[in-house]
Amino acid sequence: MSEGVRAACVIGWPIKHSRSPLIHGYWIRLHGLAADYRLEAVPPEKFEEFIRNLSAHGYVGANVTIPHKEAALALSEPDDRALAVGAANTLWYDSGRLRSTNTDVEGFTGNLDAAVPGWELRASEAVVLGAGGSARAVVYGLIERGIGRINVVNRTLDRAHALRDRFGAAVQPCNWSALPHLLGRAGLLVNTTSLGMTGQPPLDIDLAPLPRQAVVADLVYAPLDTALLQAARARGLLTADGLGMLLHQAVRGFQLWFGVRPEVTPELRTLVEADLRP
Ligand code: NAP
Repeated sequence: MSEGVRAACVIGWPIKHSRSPLIHGYWIRLHGLAADYRLEAVPPEKFEEFIRNLSAHGYVGANVTIPHKEAALALSEPDDRALAVGAANTLWYDSGRLRSTNTDVEGFTGNLDAAVPGWELRASEAVVLGAGGSARAVVYGLIERGIGRINVVNRTLDRAHALRDRFGAAVQPCNWSALPHLLGRAGLLVNTTSLGMTGQPPLDIDLAPLPRQAVVADLVYAPLDTALLQAARARGLLTADGLGMLLHQAVRGFQLWFGVRPEVTPELRTLVEADLRP
């Protein structure tokens, strides 16, 4: 590391498709910081050594992505969000202790706040499609924001039950066949499945039962404008997209490592959109 330069990185395996260097590099330039953000391709068998020596490797902190998020949790002192979600994606040093959090939680809620201010007033009841890793962050974010009933609809019902076991009675595990009925009462619909993503099957649902004030969010960001978001807009519904969540989840790490809270600007969005285009 050059003298005086603070560096962070994203650690994954594989890692070369990560957009994180583009996002953090933009903020480093914008704020004129003596800082750097790098890619680190680290295989699972080398992860523990890398994390235990993160500082010696020249880093003040890191993002962690697939397949290391559970291992990162176990090797650090997690905050409430990382513990609740069961995975850590952001590491930093606090008085020499390696701490961790899960910024997908605030990525999700921060993006909704920016796209639809006051969204939680419309969403006393929510429908979450999917019960995988990202659903855990979404459900925890909804509970943090006081949403009283979260209907988790998943192909494998056992995984939806696991979310109820983890987060309590606000979570109602449901089958896909219940969806039309559930949508009729929902103020918020969130897709956390990989359906609708490039190369995956389409997400084939009818939005007609959703109330007029409902908000629709999609975590999928490839394609940027998913069929779900298009169908929601065609019905006059407000939406929040997956790219917004990806950008908002990056804010806290940058602040923790470099001491400046950055903003998700239209210019940053345009930069990452251009990079995501096929
Ligand atoms: P994951 O843990 O693998 O979970 C995938 C979910 O999709 C499961 O609920 C799975 O259901 C469901 N699913 C997959 N194929 C299906 C099918 N053919 N029919 C019905 N359900 C199906 O994945 P994840 O990490 O949660 O990620 C999910 C999506 O969110 C991905 O597109 C990812 O890129 C996106 N994401 C975006 C952000 C962001 O910042 N925008 C952050 C995280 C994730 P089963 O349980 O039945 O298999």
